[in-house]
Amino acid sequence: MSKYWSAVVRGLTPYVPGEQPKLSKLVKLNTNENPYPPSPHALAALRDELGEDGATLRLYPDPNADRLKAAVAHRFAAFGMAPANVFVGNGSDEVLAHAFQALLRHDRPIRFPDVTYSFYPVYCGLYGVDYEAVALDEDFAIVVDDYLQPNGGIIFPNPNAPTGRLLPLDGVERIVAGNPDSVVVVDEAYIDFAGDAIPSAAALVAKYPNLLVVQTLSKSRSLAGLRVGFALGHPELIEALERVKNSFNSYPLDRLAIAAAVAAMEDEAHFDATRRAVIESREALVAEMAKLGFDTLPSAANFIFARHPQHDAGTLAAALRERGIIVRHFRSPRIEQHLRITIGTDAQCMALLAALREIL
Ligand code: PMP
Repeated sequence: MSKYWSAVVRGLTPYVPGEQPKLSKLVKLNTNENPYPPSPHALAALRDELGEDGATLRLYPDPNADRLKAAVAHRFAAFGMAPANVFVGNGSDEVLAHAFQALLRHDRPIRFPDVTYSFYPVYCGLYGVDYEAVALDEDFAIVVDDYLQPNGGIIFPNPNAPTGRLLPLDGVERIVAGNPDSVVVVDEAYIDFAGDAIPSAAALVAKYPNLLVVQTLSKSRSLAGLRVGFALGHPELIEALERVKNSFNSYPLDRLAIAAAVAAMEDEAHFDATRRAVIESREALVAEMAKLGFDTLPSAANFIFARHPQHDAGTLAAALRERGIIVRHFRSPRIEQHLRITIGTDAQCMALLAALREIL
């Protein structure tokens, strides 16, 4: 605390991201990064953008990232998406932050699950948004009817984090259709790992003017380090986000980020191959974890959420760490006995299983 701090800053409880260790030898399964490299086309685009002498870096990037909006719209063209339906930001965290301020800050409290992405209450604190945490059921599933009561807005990740549980698209649609007077934000950071078919609410955007779907290139496109996320919604919702963005930072995406993100969005083959590899490894890991006695929630994400009936989760996380493997353990109500484990390469999953066999 300092006397120079504003009242707002004094009142903040900032988000704590998972550790980014300085040691490179660790098996890092704690922040849901993709274990595979990004599209080679994205790397080529980075080099092209830099050129021989990096001269383009003298110049500001396109403040509207029009090429990227076009590439995102193109990917969702089957759902009728045009560039006017697209907002882009510096990671989906920034997109979400703007959504809290632009679309979720009204007179009534917003609703989100009691077990969910821990950044949501942080944004509420930053922007002065009241919220009600709505309990997931005992299997950590979203109860649709709980979101059909008066509210100032709704936000939930689908699949949810850190549980990995998916709300099927008809459930999402019931929530969106049942709330014509408030905005429903569906945070689809992990949706591309749901299965062969991707049950994205992007399919509903053209039908519902109150739906905002947020996605990221951090997970299924292996570009967490580049910081690119986007939203799809009715042009009026997008305009609200643009108004906040243009009152905050005109150039949230730099030239390199725009160039590589466009190439990554265009590389369907790489996207499909890597997301399928992660899904396959997840299913194999869940089966092996079951043999070790773990209960794992059904996951539609690039991580699993598991507990062992006989072993304390905090102790397990510490023992894994001693063996050079880091997973995420949340000391929060209802989930303090669970571990969230990112799906790594098959070699990393094997290292995890070997360590667990030793510990148990
Ligand atoms: N939403 C959820 C549910 C997440 O878990 C994350 C990753 N921490 C994000 C959004 C933000 O991801 P990014 O800012 O890298 O796009």
